[in-house]
Amino acid sequence: MTGTVYLIGAGPGAPDLLTLRAADLLRRADIVFHDALVHPDTLALAGGAEKIAVGKRCGRHSTAQRFINKRLVDAARKHDLVVRLKGGDPMLFGRAQEEIDELSAAGIRSEVVPGITAALAASAELGVSLTRRGVARSVVLTTPRVGTDEAANDWAAGIHAGNTAVVYMGAGKAGEVAEQRLSNGVARATPVVIVENATLPERREIWCTAATLPQAARQSVEGPALIIIGRVLDKAQHDALHAEPPDEQTDRFLEYGNSWFR
Ligand code: SAH
Repeated sequence: MTGTVYLIGAGPGAPDLLTLRAADLLRRADIVFHDALVHPDTLALAGGAEKIAVGKRCGRHSTAQRFINKRLVDAARKHDLVVRLKGGDPMLFGRAQEEIDELSAAGIRSEVVPGITAALAASAELGVSLTRRGVARSVVLTTPRVGTDEAANDWAAGIHAGNTAVVYMGAGKAGEVAEQRLSNGVARATPVVIVENATLPERREIWCTAATLPQAARQSVEGPALIIIGRVLDKAQHDALHAEPPDEQTDRFLEYGNSWFR
């Protein structure tokens, strides 16, 4: 008899944005393999389980995916309830398919428990719907990031003036993001927001436009960040620029405010 591996979405950051199903499985887990971004309070739910960090963070040391796959298979041969806990939703930019396929090939049962993906958490906090009648009928979730064995592809091809784009793992490549956007007929004044650490206390928003995105992203972004681009942000952009910003933010707001109203 082998155990079952549950690929669980831990949500975007705040530990209370977790499904009841995920919490229940964590409490019963024998062993938990988790990403670096998972909140300690979420891990604490798995009180009795052995916890193993297999996190991947952009540009930092990561545990090779093949090694993670193998460890999941080995764990399922020893334990009843194995959890693979991933940030956000496992099925978006989470390498979940490789794990599912590997487990399936080894004859091990797996199940996926969805989580709240970063794009939806950021949308909620901004109070900005990603779709809006007459403005955006579709949402593109994309990333410029490619694996070492992958050729750069047309990751921005689906982005255009009539939709909302949410770019994952893109803060370090903002110049490239801006260039791709502009080449797809997106107006230079299109509002853009970089949301760092969504749902966490250290959350930060940097407002800019498609034209000023490269400069905006030069401000150090340490935590996980999304770039959201699209006309659905129009009102929120306007409000952010007219709010009284904290002193240390003034320069930044003025700089991007000017370009926005140019
Ligand atoms: N499966 C995850 C995405 C993993 S890729 C999900 O569904 O959300 C990691 C990227 O997700 C980061 O580089 C960043 O672009 C985004 N991300 C994850 N958590 C975030 C957060 N709290 N705030 C902003 N972006 C976040």
